[in-house]
Amino acid sequence: AAALYIVPTPIGNLNDISQRALETLQRVDLIACEDTRHTAKLLSHYQISTPTWALHDHNEQHKAEQLVGRLLNGQSIALVSDAGTPLISDPGYHLVNHCREAGVQVIALPGPCAAITALSAAGLPTDRFAFEGFLPAKDKARLDKLESLRDEGRTLVFYESPRRLLDTVEAIISVMGEARRLVVARELTKTFESIHSLPAGEMLAWLRQDDNRSRGEIVLMVAGHRPDGDALPAEALRTLALLRAELP
Ligand code: SAM
Repeated sequence: AAALYIVPTPIGNLNDISQRALETLQRVDLIACEDTRHTAKLLSHYQISTPTWALHDHNEQHKAEQLVGRLLNGQSIALVSDAGTPLISDPGYHLVNHCREAGVQVIALPGPCAAITALSAAGLPTDRFAFEGFLPAKDKARLDKLESLRDEGRTLVFYESPRRLLDTVEAIISVMGEARRLVVARELTKTFESIHSLPAGEMLAWLRQDDNRSRGEIVLMVAGHRPDGDALPAEALRTLALLRAELP
């Protein structure tokens, strides 16, 4: 039966595509993508010749209606984005929403997602987390957003551009304090993958030492607020931990 398949693609390492993803891309009538030229590279790598179709964000509503029409006519369609899981800070929401309203089956395949990959290696609590996508680009809006998250107890996960990372870390320090633990996960699954964990104040210094440390694709994670944790500077916390260890 006709269905819309949500197909995650690699976030850097081409070996990360699943067998089921490849079979689905091969089998469907059409692949709806963010950027046809970008997806063409992936498809040619796997020798898949399924036709593609651009789903631009600014006219996604209209394009979504056209695709729903095709689905209702019995065609199967796969949705991919440039990298990772479609709809996660990527287009596809209107399409999925239209499909569900029209009674078209939506089948999501599990697969690569930068946020989940970063979180699983960060060493921060993962039992609860809040994915916040990209922070607003403007200073004031970004500060307001961070203010609203200051007392959030869950681990925070952001997508961040290399150009803004330093400014964002500065903003985090001003709102949440320099003791708040940050993890910067860069270039995941690629040659220069690195995952670095430091209190915000030390992270800023570390990033400033070398431009390469903020290059590439970045997931920024912020430890959740702990009522007893953030009030004290890192030094005091270390002393406290030492004292605790000495107590009977
Ligand atoms: N849909 C994608 C996903 O499932 O991860 C995310 C798309 S979003 C437009 C792109 C952002 O994801 C990048 O700016 C970066 O913050 C993050 N990202 C994507 N690939 C990454 C990688 N290999 N390493 C670190 N972050 C990555």
